[in-house]
Amino acid sequence: ERRFAQFKLVLLGESAVGKSSVVQRFVKDSFSDFRESTIGAAFLTQTVDIDDTTTVKFEIWDTAGQERYRSLASIYYRNAQAALVVYDITQKASLDKAKYWIKELQKQANSDIIIALVGNKTDLQDQREVSIEEAQSFAQGMGLLYFEVSAKTGQGVKECFKQIAVKLPIE
Ligand code: GDP
Ligand code: MG
Repeated sequence: ERRFAQFKLVLLGESAVGKSSVVQRFVKDSFSDFRESTIGAAFLTQTVDIDDTTTVKFEIWDTAGQERYRSLASIYYRNAQAALVVYDITQKASLDKAKYWIKELQKQANSDIIIALVGNKTDLQDQREVSIEEAQSFAQGMGLLYFEVSAKTGQGVKECFKQIAVKLPIE
């Protein structure tokens, strides 16, 4: 018989890096060039079969990146078991914001939270401002998972959630 496990996952990162688009790709396998910005936070769920016997259900909190919602973020990450901290590979400043969120999580979230640093928009290679090496070595140094994805093409998105799912503690 199948085992089911349920985990809370939060998305954090600067506005417009593509957090909602990554979630939309994962949950609905679709993409839109004209996304409305998230107000407060949005809640979605999606399951992943990690092998023949185990299904993981993610309860996803997609937060808004705007400054005025920043203090609300702790409500969503406080009891999260996993976090995706997203930056845009074409915006160097968005990696600095990601580093801020990672520090915040390491100070305030569950000590066993699984954190993934996720560089989005790999379809825009010609506009790249953050190299894989730079982001990967930062992630390694901080003990984080690291992925590059494109919500637009779907590249890497399923794999990212699956890799997180297999890391989660399932009894
Ligand atoms: P959020 O504020 O972090 O939730 O970002 P959104 O998901 O609202 O996306 C912001 C903008 O970036 C939108 O215009 C999206 O269509 C665009 N976008 C998101 N992901 C990608 C991607 O992988 N590639 C490209 N080219 N654009 C993307
Ligand atoms: Mg959003």
